[in-house]
Amino acid sequence: MQQILQKMRLAFASIPPIVLVLVTTGAVMPATGQVGTGETVIQKATEQFESTPLKTISLDKGIWMFGGDGGNVTAIVDDGSTLLIDSGLDSRTAELTNAVFQATWHPVTRLVNTHWHFDHTGGNVYFGLESVTIIAQENVKQRLSSVQNVPFIGLRDGRYPTLALPTLTYSSSMTLSQGDQHLTLVNYGPAHTDGDTIVYISPANVAVIGDIFSNHVYPIIDLASGGSMDGMIHSLDQILAQTDDQAKIVPGHGPVANRSDLQNYRDMLAQVRQRIKVLVGAGKTMDEAVAAAPTKDFDAQWGQGYVSPDVFVRMVFTSLTDSGNANR
Ligand SMILES: [Zn+2]
Repeated sequence: MQQILQKMRLAFASIPPIVLVLVTTGAVMPATGQVGTGETVIQKATEQFESTPLKTISLDKGIWMFGGDGGNVTAIVDDGSTLLIDSGLDSRTAELTNAVFQATWHPVTRLVNTHWHFDHTGGNVYFGLESVTIIAQENVKQRLSSVQNVPFIGLRDGRYPTLALPTLTYSSSMTLSQGDQHLTLVNYGPAHTDGDTIVYISPANVAVIGDIFSNHVYPIIDLASGGSMDGMIHSLDQILAQTDDQAKIVPGHGPVANRSDLQNYRDMLAQVRQRIKVLVGAGKTMDEAVAAAPTKDFDAQWGQGYVSPDVFVRMVFTSLTDSGNANR
């Protein structure tokens, strides 16, 4: 915690005043968002994101994934430009842009944000200053335009300066071309947030799905930003219907996955939802549901990340009961 604050202070001291509004404090710490010793989900995640080495992975000819800098970043190059999907952490923009240029050798001219969270939009100020066209589902622009509070996970952020906001938005789908690749951007309704974009890239057969899937940790369901457990499963069912066994699936965090990884994850979510529904139906309180350990057999595989089993159960319980609005 002290280390994070010190790092944040150092980072803020070195950036120009316009960026100061991008402060991600994680300062709100309700009991539900704590992962232990007073640390929030976002503090634990940020600590991990800031200390993970950046890795460049080739997905196909002219398509790369950059992992480790906050959320995964995907680049698609054509003869003269690079299109980027997500922009990582604000604190690692220089490192990311160097890695992207070394792989693509072309300037970034378009940037898609899969959702509004700071670990996927941190480079927006830099790219906005470079006059890059920023593209997102319309709710991303709305959320980045004002202060956002997500006390459940300890996230407070915004508002972003105008130049860092999406300039091209859509409601349910849009298409783009980048060289030989055809991109379909889709929003299947609220899932991780209310502004998630899934990008299908063909013929490369790559699906970039943002934080609807983090490989392998329990997901954050951002209830304060309109996310929902039912919506997560609904979006996953749509993605599973649109992909085949050869598809490369780029999660919001963690290594590249395939369709069977996604199916296992979807089935885990569906089982957890069912178990917690049973507890809700039996009149259990949220604390009693946590004490019943409904995720116990999944925790070794999914519960070792920044979302602890307890926090995950509380998120799902809240989503299914619409209770505890104050803690969203
Ligand atoms: Zn996110």
